[in-house]
Amino acid sequence: MSITIMKFGGTSVGNLDRIKKAAKIVKSKILKEKQKIIVVVSAMSGVTNNLVKSFNKISYDIDNPEYDVILSTGEQYSSGVMSTVLNSVGIRSRSLQGWQVPILTDNNHSKARINSINSEQIKKLFKSFDALVVAGFQGISRENRITTLGRGGSDTTAVALAIATKSNCCEIFTDVEGIFSSDPRIVKKAKKIKKITYEEILEMSSAGSKVLHPRSVELAMKYGIKIHVRSSFTSKTGTMVVKEEKKLEKEIVTGISSSDYEANISLKGIPDKPGIAGNIFSLLSRANINVDMIVQNITDDGKYASLTFTVPVEDCSRSVKVLKESKIKFKQIKFDKNICKVSIVGVGMKSNVGVAKTMFETLAKKNINIQVISTSEIKISVLINSKEKKVALNALHNAYNLHR
Ligand code: ASP
Ligand code: MG
Repeated sequence: MSITIMKFGGTSVGNLDRIKKAAKIVKSKILKEKQKIIVVVSAMSGVTNNLVKSFNKISYDIDNPEYDVILSTGEQYSSGVMSTVLNSVGIRSRSLQGWQVPILTDNNHSKARINSINSEQIKKLFKSFDALVVAGFQGISRENRITTLGRGGSDTTAVALAIATKSNCCEIFTDVEGIFSSDPRIVKKAKKIKKITYEEILEMSSAGSKVLHPRSVELAMKYGIKIHVRSSFTSKTGTMVVKEEKKLEKEIVTGISSSDYEANISLKGIPDKPGIAGNIFSLLSRANINVDMIVQNITDDGKYASLTFTVPVEDCSRSVKVLKESKIKFKQIKFDKNICKVSIVGVGMKSNVGVAKTMFETLAKKNINIQVISTSEIKISVLINSKEKKVALNALHNAYNLHR
């Protein structure tokens, strides 16, 4: 039996017309390719956000199991609607909630991880049905309680089901045609990427491009599941997420991402002694603040250092407060929320020299000042003033010839 996973995101099931459109795609796959389909659905767009708001009127404690009971209802609804529509167009279908599959998770409510999926029941059900509509984003814990997988988690449901049923492709339907070389709203020449590697997409999502739930990509990478990211509004091929070996032409840079959700904090006049950076960052980590980019400078006399780092913008004020109230000595603290992180990502970087040089020269030619730099094997990120974002992204897109 050949099983395909088709996952439809919030906008693709955003209203009844769109659900009908999605059902048509499922039906044609069943008829043309003689496949059994597991349809994974998200909640209709906006629904989960509203459920969070309604919960927040009573509580902010997302570790409360009832948070998951409330949040999972969005997917319960859309799975029921999708299955009803499929039945109405002659497809034998039924819905399954996470607990009915069952998708077994740990008991970390609001951010549960999948432990195992029993695929026996799915295989049995396929004797009577051609499509099974599984509610994404949810599972059940050993304590027999409903869990959710973290916001955006339906992608992870889809990939986990692909692994459990040994299906070789997972199609993720969304409202964009695939993954683009840069944000098409900012870079007019941005192009759809045909093939991207798991590593690249993970780096791009940490750099601000959110297309897939990062955990779904990690899982797909571990088990070699091909992901096809495509639009439910056209029949065009989207972007394939594949292993590095499958990508023959390794462009030096595959994509350019940007993120506005950071703030930078600088501490000046810190005594230059061993252990100080350790103290500062352990303080922030105890306050659950995630530090991303870091630079340290030492003054000429070697007595003082200054430290600049970035934190998520919503944690900026809290970070400043935590540092001011701590025992850590410094002369001055400043922060800036008008910054933007611009990153170039590409597996080809590993085997090419001069990639960083091109990036820095391109920005210099546009008179853009770089505040902080950080790198990984396949990514270079710089921090710049947010006003310069558009110019920087377009100039870099040209410099690496991504429009070709
Ligand atoms: N409905 C959930 C959310 O909005 C899960 C998902 O859409 O993937 O986060
Ligand atoms: Mg999503």
